[in-house]
Amino acid sequence: MLNKTRLLTPGPTPLPEEVRLAMARDMLHHRKPAFLPVMEDVRAGLKYLFQTSQEVIPLACSGTGAMAAAVTNLFTPGEKLLCVEGGKFGERWGEICEMHGQIPVRLPVEWGRAVDPADVARALDADPSIRGVLVQASETSTGVLHPIGELGRVTAGREALLVADGISAVGISPCPMDAWGVDCLLTGSQKGLMLPPGLAFIACSEKGWAKCAQVRPSNFYFQLQGEHAKIKANQTMFTSPVGLLIGLRESLRLFREFGLERLHAKQWALTMMARAGASAMGLELLAPENFTWGLTSIRMPLGVSASEVAKRASADHGVVLATGQGHMKDRVVRLGHMGHVDFGDVLAGLAALRQAFTGAGGYIGCPDALEQAMDAYGEALRQGPPAN
Ligand SMILES: *Cc1c(COP(=O)(O)O)cnc(C)c1O
Repeated sequence: MLNKTRLLTPGPTPLPEEVRLAMARDMLHHRKPAFLPVMEDVRAGLKYLFQTSQEVIPLACSGTGAMAAAVTNLFTPGEKLLCVEGGKFGERWGEICEMHGQIPVRLPVEWGRAVDPADVARALDADPSIRGVLVQASETSTGVLHPIGELGRVTAGREALLVADGISAVGISPCPMDAWGVDCLLTGSQKGLMLPPGLAFIACSEKGWAKCAQVRPSNFYFQLQGEHAKIKANQTMFTSPVGLLIGLRESLRLFREFGLERLHAKQWALTMMARAGASAMGLELLAPENFTWGLTSIRMPLGVSASEVAKRASADHGVVLATGQGHMKDRVVRLGHMGHVDFGDVLAGLAALRQAFTGAGGYIGCPDALEQAMDAYGEALRQGPPAN
C-alpha cells in the first residue's frame, strides 16, 4: 500500500476510469436489440482508429490470435510469405506460418534496426511466388518502427499482400491503413487501446478481401469472411465478448474526443521525454532511430542486470517495467509509455529507473536527468511530431 502501482509496460497498460466504469455495467445479450448500438458505435470508432473505410473485425482473443487469423485466412498452405524478422514478434510470424503450412521466407534485420524497404523489394523480385509480406508496424521486443508506408508502396504494384501487426502502433503512432496501402492491419486491446487484454482487431483492404475470398480458412473459429458478413449486421459469429466491447466503445469515444493527431503528439512527447531522460543518465538506447512511440528500450551496461532493475523499481517504487525479450532478456529494460499514461507516469518511471539502476550497481553521473527529460517533453510538445 506504500506505493501506487504504475503499469509502465508494453501491455497490459493502465485503464481510464471511464472504461472501467463502463465495463462494470449490467451484462447485455449479444443477440438482442440492446447490443446493436454498442456494435454500431464500435464499428465507427474502429474505422476512425484504423483510418480506414473498411470494416474492422473484433475477435475474442489476444493479439496473436489476429496474427494467426491473418495467416490462415489470407494464405493457403504451401504459399510463401516473407517474414521481416527484427525481433521476437517478427519471429512469431515465421512460427505461425510453419504451424499452418505456409512457407516462411525469413528476412533477418538486426535487433534495434528497421527493415530497409529496398531489401523487401529485392526479396519480392527475387522470388515472385511470395504472396505476402508479414511485418510489425512496431516491433515491441526492440522498440523499432518499421517503415509501413514505404512497404505499402513496395507491395502496391505487386501481387503480395502487406500484412502489418500494429499491436503496439495502432492508437500510439500514425498507422493510417488506407493511406499507407496496408492490406491487412491488426492490433490487440491491451497496448494502446486502454483496455484489458482479450480482444484483437483485424481489417483488410479490397486487395486483401479479394485474396481472402480464394482461401478456405483452416481454422473454424477464425473465419474472416464470415465475421465480415456478420459485422455488417452489428453481430459476431460466436458469442461476442460483450463486456470488453462495452469498454471498447468507451475507449474509442475517448480517442475520438481527444483526436488521433493530438494523441500521437502526446505519445511523441512522452517518447522524447523517456529517451532524453535515459540518455542523460548515460544509458544507451536500443533503437537509435526509427523508434517506437509507445515504449523505450534501454540497454543495461555490463554488470547491471535488467531483471534486477525491474525487480527494484517494482518493489521500491511500484513502477512495473518490462525487461528485454529473447537473447536480450537481461540486457534491456523496456519502459512502456502507451495507453492511459501521461507526463507524471513517465516522470515516475524515469525516477524509479534511476533509483533502481543505482541500487542494482549502476553509476549515474548526471544529477539533472529528470529535468532534462521534462525539458525534452515540453520542447517536443511545442515542436510536434515528425510528419508521416
Ligand atoms: C504484444 C504484441 C504481440 C502479442 O500479443 P498478445 O496479445 O500477447 O497475443 C504481438 N505483436 C506485437 C507487436 C506486440 O506488441
